[in-house]
Amino acid sequence: MHAEHRYPDEDFIPVKPWRPCPICGKGDWCGFTSFGLVSCMRIEEGSFKTVIQKNGKPAYQHWLEPGRINLPALIESDSIPAAQTAPVEVRDRVYRDFLRLLYLHPRHMEDLHRRGLTEEEIRKNGYRSVPETEAPWSICRRLIQMGYDLAGIPGFYKARGPRGGTYWTFDRQPGYFIPVRDEKGRIQALQRRMDFTRGGKYRLFSGHQSRGGCSCGTPAHVARPEEVKDRRVWITEGPLKADVASKHLGAVVVGALSACTWRPAIPAVLALEAKEVVIALDRDVETNPEVARAYLTLKVELKKHGLAVSRAVWEEKKGIDDALAAGIEVRVVRV
Ligand SMILES: [Zn+2]
Repeated sequence: MHAEHRYPDEDFIPVKPWRPCPICGKGDWCGFTSFGLVSCMRIEEGSFKTVIQKNGKPAYQHWLEPGRINLPALIESDSIPAAQTAPVEVRDRVYRDFLRLLYLHPRHMEDLHRRGLTEEEIRKNGYRSVPETEAPWSICRRLIQMGYDLAGIPGFYKARGPRGGTYWTFDRQPGYFIPVRDEKGRIQALQRRMDFTRGGKYRLFSGHQSRGGCSCGTPAHVARPEEVKDRRVWITEGPLKADVASKHLGAVVVGALSACTWRPAIPAVLALEAKEVVIALDRDVETNPEVARAYLTLKVELKKHGLAVSRAVWEEKKGIDDALAAGIEVRVVRV
């Protein structure tokens, strides 16, 4: 609840059929704030002020009498408790069947080709487009009909139906899913490569805790090559980068979600029983102090576990994936 009574720039909470306007009793158009100001579009009587909105229509501002209505309960009524994240075995099964219901759009196939992956690798890694024709709720319903409980599966959440009930859904911003696998190959989470990158190029399929959703945390991805030629385990930033690098290196590559979320890479490296680790963060490790700090702490942490640590060095390209795909020489130096 807000302690200070800001007015009038406080955000209005829209009324809904299950949470109607306290003034006119209708479930649309009007809004209210957490401190008892109601902006009713229908009833002028009893209002203290009329505001002309951008669309030229009046909005009647009312103060709610204290005690007349339980505002916290009214606001609360909109939220659905978060679910506890399901164990990885469960997430893996749901995500596998979820991805099977989807297809990969040609433009996304093209993007993955451009990064240096073959059709076979694209198929094996399991990328799929966020569906563009079938509605999310319909796909959720198919999963539920298959016997799955979507509670506890990051990315899925509940929406309110027009008559107050709830149904399962997920975000449909265009892009494609990148499976984030653990050391056993199980899909623990999904990352999305977004078509529209204003909110970030890569976003996790996670969240909406106030709508019955849950968080997947920041898991590290383990990419495996067709055939292991290099016994060292490499660490880079980004699951897709790890997939591409793994193919070129013939090594297991752990992809942290970002340079600064390297910590989950440690248990992955230990589970893989690695003896030697090569760090291949982006080349801005040389210029970005935050990445440089991440690199140093990661190095120290790996050494604490008795691992031999090296660093990959290359020129020109920012990421190890692009360097390898372009045939640029990558040297490994002991640190
Ligand atoms: Zn109203």
